[in-house]
Amino acid sequence: MGSFFGGIRFQIAGSIIAVSIVIITLLNIFPVLITEQLISDSNNDKLSARVETIASTVSQIETLTSSRVSLALEYFSIYNDERLIITDNVGKCLFDSSRVDSQVKKYMLQPEISAAMRGQDVFSCQFTDEFVYSTAACPIFLRGNLIGVAYLHESDAEQATFLSGIRSTIARFSVIIGVIIGGVTVAMMVILTKRFLRLYSAIDDMRSGEYSSTGARGKDELSTLAARMDELATEIQQNEDRRKQFVSDASHELRTPLSSMRLLADAILQSQDMPADMVREFVGDIGTEIDRLTRITGKMLTLTKLSSRTPNLTAVNMADTVNVSAHMLGPVSERADVKLTCSVGDDCIVYADGDSIYQIVYNLMENAIKYNRRGGEENVFLYKKEGSVFFIVDDTGPGIPESEREHIFERFYRIDKARSRSAGGTGLGLAIVSENTTKFGGKIHVEPSVSGGSRFIVQLPEYLPEAASDEECSADGGDENEA
Ligand code: ADP
Repeated sequence: MGSFFGGIRFQIAGSIIAVSIVIITLLNIFPVLITEQLISDSNNDKLSARVETIASTVSQIETLTSSRVSLALEYFSIYNDERLIITDNVGKCLFDSSRVDSQVKKYMLQPEISAAMRGQDVFSCQFTDEFVYSTAACPIFLRGNLIGVAYLHESDAEQATFLSGIRSTIARFSVIIGVIIGGVTVAMMVILTKRFLRLYSAIDDMRSGEYSSTGARGKDELSTLAARMDELATEIQQNEDRRKQFVSDASHELRTPLSSMRLLADAILQSQDMPADMVREFVGDIGTEIDRLTRITGKMLTLTKLSSRTPNLTAVNMADTVNVSAHMLGPVSERADVKLTCSVGDDCIVYADGDSIYQIVYNLMENAIKYNRRGGEENVFLYKKEGSVFFIVDDTGPGIPESEREHIFERFYRIDKARSRSAGGTGLGLAIVSENTTKFGGKIHVEPSVSGGSRFIVQLPEYLPEAASDEECSADGGDENEA
């Protein structure tokens, strides 16, 4: 199991937490900033209007003095949380609503007053935990000449309380959201970890030769991966079972001729004065067993190659294969007194491996002789129909009972072992035929023939050069792309 911090779970959890931190931080900053901006704008409108009204009232005074300013502002209401200052054009205080007498006639050094003395309207707003401080200042002109400055400062505790309320509400929300996201992330990690552990343990089981199911459910990517692993495990298990079965069947099959050879050899060795004719006969029997062993091992090799070899695909004219096989089997059918007749159509071409097609044709035609009666018949048909090539072998033998039909394509399966052995059978011929047929997209099945014997029907896709050349072109294109 990979380290947690380098793993995908950490990457997912890390990403969720990082994104959450960014979102929560923005959630804490933006609403407060926007509210501050709204408060600042509203205070700006309010204070600037008031300070301008004051400035225009004061600007009626011809010569500014403390007493004239105080008189002019007598009916002007100034609230407790406000401070109004009027200065002359050099910043000397003429009026201060904070009524600290010592400050009157002093020079005022507030930056807003300095800015207003340069002819600018000024507003500033400051936020602290207890107060929102707003300041507006504007120049006082008389006939275009600067004669003084009006400065109004307000400290609002209510607005500060409102702001800190918003801040603490958002902070509470952030904590709740953080806890929920954290909880969900941890739960996700726990579930993910469990699912990964299940996959790891299935892989470990597979490694030790046990093919347990991951118990995959659901439709997400991990479930799909687990389901694919289950399929793979089942496939490996089946292959493994088939391999074991094959090895055990093969050992059994090989043991029989080997034991016969052992017995024959022992008989020769133990008998001191065995007649030469009998020795020759026994040695001949040993030769027969050696032939059987050679046939079995040859067919086993063919089957092994079938699953490992990449077929050499070409256009195969099955008519040629049937004619060659009939020619090869001519002497065999004569010996068995079976009349072999072939009805072969033209242009029955399939796209396959020539050797494999030969194995299909030869094995089926040979079986129809082997499992036939003396004086019987074998009829072979080859024709094409609706995009398929049909190869049919019909015999007048004993036929195959219905219950056996689904088994006869299994490796080493024989209906009548003694008859198969005496006919030189290995029990592998039909397995080779079936595997070769399905390898090229074909189908095989057996049914009773009209005479009560067997009828094997092989259906293979017909080779259509135009379709194949299209496929080849696209396959070439694919290769180029891959290259
Ligand atoms: P074998 O080498 O024994 O012939 P096959 O795989 O070719 O092995 O055949 C499997 C079994 O199917 C045979 O042992 C035989 O019992 C049966 N079989 C095959 N072909 C025929 C047929 N044409 N008629 C009757 N039985 C057949």
